[in-house]
Amino acid sequence: MYDLESKTQQVTQAKHGLHIPMLMPDEFFMGYLGRLTHINGLGNTSNTNKILSAWVKQSHPEANVVPAAYSLPKLLDIDVETFIRQHTFAPITGAIKSKTVQRNAEVTARQNSNLQGMLITTSKKIKKAACFCASCVKEDIDYLGFSFWRRSHQLSGIDWCLKHNVPLREVNEDAPYEIQPANYLMNKRFTEVNIESHTADPVVLRYAQLIQDALELAVPLDFKVTGQVLFKQSKEFNIRTSAKGNKKTLSDLMIEQLPDYWLSKHFPNLKKERHGTYLSSFDDVLRLNGNGKSCMNTLLAAAVLFKNADEAIFEFTQHQYKCPPKAKPKISDKAIIESYIKFQGNIKRVAAELNQSYDTLYARAATLGLPALTNVNRATFNAIMSFFRGEDFLTSINKPGVNPEKFESVIRIAGGQLSSTINKFKRSMSSTKLS
Ligand SMILES: [Zn+2]
Repeated sequence: MYDLESKTQQVTQAKHGLHIPMLMPDEFFMGYLGRLTHINGLGNTSNTNKILSAWVKQSHPEANVVPAAYSLPKLLDIDVETFIRQHTFAPITGAIKSKTVQRNAEVTARQNSNLQGMLITTSKKIKKAACFCASCVKEDIDYLGFSFWRRSHQLSGIDWCLKHNVPLREVNEDAPYEIQPANYLMNKRFTEVNIESHTADPVVLRYAQLIQDALELAVPLDFKVTGQVLFKQSKEFNIRTSAKGNKKTLSDLMIEQLPDYWLSKHFPNLKKERHGTYLSSFDDVLRLNGNGKSCMNTLLAAAVLFKNADEAIFEFTQHQYKCPPKAKPKISDKAIIESYIKFQGNIKRVAAELNQSYDTLYARAATLGLPALTNVNRATFNAIMSFFRGEDFLTSINKPGVNPEKFESVIRIAGGQLSSTINKFKRSMSSTKLS
């Protein structure tokens, strides 16, 4: 059904002897590590980690352990913290402290304890099983020629694909991310989740929205603030907020309001012998100080206590910070491609021209099949464009100033998708000067 082995997975560049596939938006970092391993024929991810660690240690000899969440962005030349925010679960495992928002690109894994904290929890698994959506996999195979593991499918409590609204398939094997999801689909090595009981449940749906919102926050939740907000909100429910007393607790309310099957799967610790028992790990989210709280238990409390997820997120964030910046206007594919050509694949300059963040633009360009091209001179870039517009190979490569190695490697690497993107927009860009 799928011819996976022969597909080039859009390798954008080679570095330190490794072929480096393009990182996809929403790609879970463990899955990316798996693809990197597979493309380079390294067998398993611990071999890849060894190579990456050795490379990072060259410039940071003081580092003991170099987690993949640190070495991968270094390899990809992207900001470590941005990578961690977009491709790991650190934002919702409570590992990111507000302080780390101050960017410091050159900190080492060891020097910065906040970063270290983030890196440690990146390895935490959120769900027991590795999950994929069959529809997403089919689309990936059709459009990209390969499939990849999405972070949004690994979120605890969400058993369905938010895009296709179909049940996720679960893989319960060792090191599942070393293999593409399409392989599991093709070989029917998965179990399908029954989602009927909970996709209709309003509290579960609110929780699903909250966890996604929390992943997107520019500034991580402050658990002092969430404690104050939830404490205030709990007054409407006449529940008890301390260990002593007879009234119902927040954890009682959670057990009453959420489906049993869903709770036992995603919050197995939320169970008790007797109604009224105070369960610190859940009931403590109402405390006014911020220490030791679980982000996911906080979100679960918000789903139970608020009727509306937006309102909860607003309450959580407005007290400490100004309103989140308005979403920037959507930039068209055409504008991105025009600017990409103008700046010869320099994503940084494209992002600046279009007033987008580097990471947003990098991700958009990736979906259009436009790799970040650094160190490609103007003559080489123009020759690449001419080649993709139909000029013959020898004419293009022999033009003055062309670096033949760069020319060949870009063409080989960018392959069909860059070519089809350029062709698709050929007509609309006839006004763009490309001498
Ligand atoms: Zn899907």
